[in-house]
Amino acid sequence: MLSLIFVLGAASSCAAQKNKGLSALPPDIRAQAESALSSVHIGDADRGRIVEAIGNDPSGFALLFREVRDVMKKDPDLLRRVDKSVALPANFVPADLVVLDGAFPYVVSKKGMLLRAPARDALVRMAEAAKKEGRTLVVSSTYRSYDYQKTVFERNVREMGKAEAERVSAQPGMSQHQLGTAVDFGSITDEFGDTAAGRWLSANAGKFGFSLSFPKDMEAVTGYRWESWHYRYISPPAAEMQARFFLGIQQYLIEFLAALPH
Ligand SMILES: [Zn+2]
Repeated sequence: MLSLIFVLGAASSCAAQKNKGLSALPPDIRAQAESALSSVHIGDADRGRIVEAIGNDPSGFALLFREVRDVMKKDPDLLRRVDKSVALPANFVPADLVVLDGAFPYVVSKKGMLLRAPARDALVRMAEAAKKEGRTLVVSSTYRSYDYQKTVFERNVREMGKAEAERVSAQPGMSQHQLGTAVDFGSITDEFGDTAAGRWLSANAGKFGFSLSFPKDMEAVTGYRWESWHYRYISPPAAEMQARFFLGIQQYLIEFLAALPH
């Protein structure tokens, strides 16, 4: 009996320890964060690191939390969860798609590519900054409709088999490209990460609100192998929140935000 009490005591103090980093948050944010964090599909070690990061700067987290909540309220699709567990409806088409053609500071690999207006505006700002530093951003793929993604995925299945196709492409409805906020840059090959543009993006994209969706060695978390070329626009405060509090992992941030009460 005594040992049972000891075990129970140890377990509950361990749980309290786990969330200790959240205790300095304002009570309303703390309650939301605690509940949302418990819904994120994450290992104990990474969860502990997130809680620790929040504990080291609770006021910084609270400030960003409010800013990101504001973004979500104004534009719910910007931070919408889309992955191997959560699909978009086939008829989901963003309302504010704009064509990328024209005199912009980036290069397009083909005509007629579409992005949501806020993502296009951020892309223009980012490409201008890159250009000033002598880097040219080549835009290779942007919005894809449900039907187009279906042809992409089915072609990959024919060419490489279903298991491999699932690692490198999304099933229709599960692609961030359907959101109209994802951009593939450059060659869409692993070599891109080591080009001048790839390195510049890796260092600077966050400042403009873009986030690398499928980082290296995170396939167990994201469901996809490393894609050095695939960035999603999530807004500057969300990109900052991801970098400072979510270990730089977009999947953790998006799952966390999706689990917040509406
Ligand atoms: Zn992509």
